[in-house]
Amino acid sequence: MRVLVTGGAGFIGSHYVRSLLLGSYPGHEDVSVTVLDKLTYAGNLGNLAPVTGRPGYTFLRGDITDTRLLAEVVPQCDVIVNFAAETHVDRSITGAGDFVTTNVLGTQRLLEAALEADVRTVVHVSTDEVYGSIGEGSWAEDEPLLPNSPYSATKAGSDLLCRAYHQTYGLDVRVTRCSNNYGPYQYLEKMIPRFVTNLLDGERVPLYGDGLNVRDWLHVDDHCRGIQLVLEKGSPGEVYNIGGGTELTNRELTGLLLATLGKAWEMVEGVPDRLGHDLRYSVDWSKLRALGYEPRVDFGDGLAEVVRWYQDNQHWWRPLKQRTA
Ligand code: NAD
Repeated sequence: MRVLVTGGAGFIGSHYVRSLLLGSYPGHEDVSVTVLDKLTYAGNLGNLAPVTGRPGYTFLRGDITDTRLLAEVVPQCDVIVNFAAETHVDRSITGAGDFVTTNVLGTQRLLEAALEADVRTVVHVSTDEVYGSIGEGSWAEDEPLLPNSPYSATKAGSDLLCRAYHQTYGLDVRVTRCSNNYGPYQYLEKMIPRFVTNLLDGERVPLYGDGLNVRDWLHVDDHCRGIQLVLEKGSPGEVYNIGGGTELTNRELTGLLLATLGKAWEMVEGVPDRLGHDLRYSVDWSKLRALGYEPRVDFGDGLAEVVRWYQDNQHWWRPLKQRTA
């Protein structure tokens, strides 16, 4: 199988590529993987270092909005897994243009190229944020999309384009919507790496508002196994929620990180809340469970392992921290 992984140099895409090429998904020993990534500030070839030089692996620097490039690359693959996106909510609040270009226009151009090339299957990686905020209970896949940030609005737009390309042209495209991920190689602007690296450097950590916003945390390895399951056993045109990690308020997560690193609450600095900050996300993932999905990584173990990873891999994040300082 020839897989095109767009956005494969980012946090989740690179985990997927490493898993695929290093044998985590049985039955794909003969896989070949092409990563197409623009290498924005969030893309990092260091994330792919463990597979660089392996047979069957190719990296191409490029943009998913580049139709000429897509016309060359897409016909060389059997399936596409699309991780390419602008992903940071705070950046979307200060400037939404790149989010519209990559997340909406880029996805449409990728779908069009897949249709032209008669690609077998496209898996489009989306987010639980497209549903908006939920007070109680969990969203099923047929809930209306009520995104509240420019980021989630552009992701919702891309999801709807996937639906339209299936309904109108019969393209086999499947959408996944996952909760908050944590794991190694996550860019420093996101909460867990930011807090861990700040605390390792003896710096305070910024906690939004009252800290009572609730997120469901899932290890990136469980997310990627869910994506692979959707590729292998999902159905064309369907949407699959991926979740089932651990629901925590930001305050609770902050407390766990402080305890893991032996720091006191005085290291926390309250900062004004994010504009339009959704209170809670929660997905019902029983549809994916019916395909055999179950998250495997215990949150306590996973968090401790990730903290250790940032402690042990300072060569990876120190240059990024200098860049963002
Ligand atoms: P990331 O920001 O770490 O990586 C995004 C990657 O896309 C980068 O390598 C970047 O260079 C690349 N990219 C950006 N614009 C591009 C373009 N125009 N053409 C080609 N490549 C481009 O993001 P991530 O956290 O790995 O998220 C991957 C996907 O998963 C996104 O679609 C995101 O919406 C979704 N998602 C993320 C989470 C999470 O908690 N991080 C949760 C659910 C869903």
